[in-house]
Amino acid sequence: MEFLKKIEEKWQKNWEKARIFETDPDPSKPKCFITVAYPYPNSPQHVGHGRTYTMADVHARYMRMRGYNTLLPMAFHYTGTPVLAMAKRLADNDRGLISDFINVYKIPREKLKELTEPIAMARYFHQEIKTGMKEIGYSIDWRREFTTVDPHYNRFVEWQFQKLRQHGYISQGSHPVGWCPKDGNPVGQHDTVGDVEPEIGEFTLIKFTKDNTFYPAATLRPETVFGVTNIWLNPSTIYVKATVDGEYWIVSQQSVEKLANQNRKVKVQETFTGKELVGKHVQNPVTGKDILILPADFVDPKNATGVVMSVPGHAPYDYIALENMKKESQKLRQYGITAGEVNSIKPISLIEVKGYSEIPAGDAVGKMNIHEQSDPKLEDATREVYRHEFHNGRMKANTGKYAGISVAEAKDKVKQDLIQEGKATTMYELLNRPVFCRCKTECIVKIVQDQWFIDYGKPEWKALAHKNLDNMEILPEELRQEFNNVIDWLHEKACARKSGMGTRLPWDKDWIIESLSDSTIYMAYYTIVKTIKQHKIRPDQLTDEAFDYVFLGARKPAEISRKTGLDAKILKQMHDEFMYFYPLDSRHSGRDLVPNHLTFMIFNHTAIFPEKHWPRQIATNGSVMMEGAKMSKSFGNIIPLREGLATFGADPIRLSVLSTAELLQDADFSPSIAKSMRERLEKLYKFASKNVKPPDKKNAKTQLTAIDRWMLSRLEQHIRNATTAMNKLAVRKAIQTVLYELEQDFQWYQKRITDRSQDSKRKIITVYVCHEVLDAQTRMLAPVAPHMCEEIWEMLGGKDFIAQTPWPPLDESRIDVKAEENETLIMNVLEDTMNIMKATGAKPKIVCYYTAAPWKWKTYLKTLEKSASAKVLQKDLMKQLMQEPELKANAEKVAKFAGKITDEINRTSEETKRRHTQTGLLDESQALEEAKGFFQKELNAEIHVYNEEDPKRHDPKQRAQLAKPYRPAIYIE
Ligand SMILES: [Zn+2]
Repeated sequence: MEFLKKIEEKWQKNWEKARIFETDPDPSKPKCFITVAYPYPNSPQHVGHGRTYTMADVHARYMRMRGYNTLLPMAFHYTGTPVLAMAKRLADNDRGLISDFINVYKIPREKLKELTEPIAMARYFHQEIKTGMKEIGYSIDWRREFTTVDPHYNRFVEWQFQKLRQHGYISQGSHPVGWCPKDGNPVGQHDTVGDVEPEIGEFTLIKFTKDNTFYPAATLRPETVFGVTNIWLNPSTIYVKATVDGEYWIVSQQSVEKLANQNRKVKVQETFTGKELVGKHVQNPVTGKDILILPADFVDPKNATGVVMSVPGHAPYDYIALENMKKESQKLRQYGITAGEVNSIKPISLIEVKGYSEIPAGDAVGKMNIHEQSDPKLEDATREVYRHEFHNGRMKANTGKYAGISVAEAKDKVKQDLIQEGKATTMYELLNRPVFCRCKTECIVKIVQDQWFIDYGKPEWKALAHKNLDNMEILPEELRQEFNNVIDWLHEKACARKSGMGTRLPWDKDWIIESLSDSTIYMAYYTIVKTIKQHKIRPDQLTDEAFDYVFLGARKPAEISRKTGLDAKILKQMHDEFMYFYPLDSRHSGRDLVPNHLTFMIFNHTAIFPEKHWPRQIATNGSVMMEGAKMSKSFGNIIPLREGLATFGADPIRLSVLSTAELLQDADFSPSIAKSMRERLEKLYKFASKNVKPPDKKNAKTQLTAIDRWMLSRLEQHIRNATTAMNKLAVRKAIQTVLYELEQDFQWYQKRITDRSQDSKRKIITVYVCHEVLDAQTRMLAPVAPHMCEEIWEMLGGKDFIAQTPWPPLDESRIDVKAEENETLIMNVLEDTMNIMKATGAKPKIVCYYTAAPWKWKTYLKTLEKSASAKVLQKDLMKQLMQEPELKANAEKVAKFAGKITDEINRTSEETKRRHTQTGLLDESQALEEAKGFFQKELNAEIHVYNEEDPKRHDPKQRAQLAKPYRPAIYIE
């Protein structure tokens, strides 16, 4: 570890001193601008956080080696609830949090008191995270660092919001938002425990009546009101009778606050348990039927009104509940309900759908074998019935004027009609409740008055976002549909709140822009922040006009200079630098940001910038597991990043988080993987240190033998594979190729030449080939394991930093299919021989190989040729083979042999066929002769190679005749 640490520190210092990651515009080179979602500095990072940032860094390092002038900057997101809530929890003496900070992250106890101040907390963890990013070796241009509470950045966000407003994308009004009643703030994904986006749905409240009082049953399927057989109330929960906008309602106590938050005037009159209402009758406002109120424990008083209508014909939950109740009807006696009353309740069929009987709910629970209300399969049953009915169902005759129309259509129609007739109203509720605010309070829906929104619902804006997405590369491509869906369903998003850190709305200073809205186009700010710092530009000099010029080329710098006192040359420099680096070439983040941040980034770019400056690529990755389990404080399996770096080393951590999974999958970190990565790197280092002698390239190149050509050809294949993988950021595949597959071939190569290692000519060649492999391997590994690769590179005599050295180019001329097939033959023959030895248990003294006769080869290649276009038929084949005089002379033997191989060839993969065709006649005798020394050593036996028709062959068991092309016959003695 000491050894690794020294290497890491050495190269981190060298990079910093040489400033190789400080990227300025260079018109002579193509540019590549890569960013990654900046962190909220509300805690130290753990190993899991390392994945997204490491992926972005590997991408940046790769592009640099591909010749791009690559910029990777970093900033820190102070705004929003993440920092605020964490500081608040600390101030509230949250014991779990304090224990984590002290025991897991080793923060000195005396420091904690300071951190209760949000800004102090942000600054502290900012430095902590930044130090970790340096220690892991990210190639960041730190001159461009900023925080989202810097006054200059505030000016930038103000400009952004003015632009959005000018384009008509900002609205103010009353809309439902996810809301924390304790904080009195709207909540989005980054404000909730577990980063859950609150999903708001609109329930229809159907007003069942009794004595001038409404029982507003909440439903997402108002069209099923025709099939209601009873009402469910929870007997043990508290209900209230309240005046709601002048009407009497019976609702759960918990819904009172919710209704009030949705602009209803609510006043509680009476309070009682649900038990007191069970057994009463209410009237269905649509059918006029009198129905019974039945008790149900499954009714959740926290969901909407806590009043539920029962549709057992079409709702599996209701079906099962009613069935169960009929079985235990004696329990209903306490409510004065008789068995006869319950048994007389029959499901009502109101929707006709193909593939189902009258009672689809009964079909579904029957099919899934569900008997209990607690069975989780009920969810699936409900979803299945709903899906079929919604898409294929038609309303039956008993639904009056809706008879015959589709369920999809009836759903909205019934709802609208009932509302119009005063028989129903609506209420918002979180569909994915419970959702908890970071302050641990359960979130609700609030209709906020005069709330400011970014209106992502505008169709013309959605069209622009789709256009950007359509022209963008999405890695991995599977996520494209998810982006499309998000663009389609996004609507007004609350963009400001009344408290916290951040930028104030420029036209309404009571509001502070929230954190998913102030982080959508900041990539542009990276291109100018360096100049702002360098020239000590004041925030007030960064006027809207100045930004208009810098980012949009509008207005003249001289005019802005007059007004702001900012040097026109500096303005132009900022403009030029923006124009050089924009558009953003790649945006990295975790996949959890698809439904919010990443899509907001697309929207906001299309709103503010011309099309040529829209982002080009988004790359997302999954999370990191710890030895197969979710990383979580409660599992105690979190390794703080800096601790991991100190324990395992930077390169091993980088390799570990990227080598166990491709982009979308969850990576699986474990100390043993990190350790094995470290061992691999150390092995590579040791090998390199023994092979530092510079090669005599000129001499070596002219003397290459088949095995050397094989190694160099394999090397090219691996370069090709690794390059293809890296271009798609399939880093796991690239690591696999470079660290395992190439390594395996290289080990084989070394084994193959040991018998000749004393030969001086061989030495020249070996040094050359080893150097070629090491050179390419080190370069290809450099983006992922940059420290160790710099060290090896220096040892190998590399002139520049490896970080600035070109990625190995593909040299097609080195690809030698014949040499590869030749070597595959040797591998197969060795394996076959070993298998025979294993099977017979023999320790041979002599091993004889018999290669296929020329006529067999001719037959084989002819058959192969024929199989290229179609399946080979024996009859056609013979006709053709007999046209060859040499084969005709051996007609009988040829027919027999062709019969044997036809099926085999028909079953051979196209790839193998292609390679064998390309290779043509392989001189197997020569190949085996050349490898004789190797076989002798591996098998510890005398080796003889014969052609199968060699009259002088030693063949006591008549094995020679079994020889086939690529499959020499073997005899062991
Ligand atoms: Zn809260």
